[in-house]
Amino acid sequence: MRRFLMMTALVAVCLSGAVTFVRADDAAKASDRAVTNAACPMDGAATNAKYRVEYEGQYVYFCDTSCADAFKADPKAAIAKLSAEDTAAIEKNTTCPISGEKIGSFTNRSESHGKLVYFCCEHCKAKFDKEHPAT
Ligand SMILES: [Zn+2]
Ligand SMILES: [Zn+2]
Repeated sequence: MRRFLMMTALVAVCLSGAVTFVRADDAAKASDRAVTNAACPMDGAATNAKYRVEYEGQYVYFCDTSCADAFKADPKAAIAKLSAEDTAAIEKNTTCPISGEKIGSFTNRSESHGKLVYFCCEHCKAKFDKEHPAT
């Protein structure tokens, strides 16, 4: 019996150690997977980085696949339901984060923390990509 108790205690220690490790790992991954809008434009639920659609040059995030699919039928109506904060979050940047210049063609872009970032030229994009390795 005493032997059994010791084994149980050992297993419990091992398990709690494993759980702590998994939690830390999940937290690190979640912070990497940023989103633009926090609320799903279809039903207001929390968005998930896995479900996104590109709309007018920026990613819009959803809570699941069915909301992402439903969005495509009438994106304008869905966007109109977003909060002011989320609406601002899905607008693409119009000035270059490297040079501060206006962005003309929107052809030079990179993905950073779940967002599309636009640059005035390919040189600024190259500089940004070097400073912000893709996660
Ligand atoms: Zn949804
Ligand atoms: Zn530039």
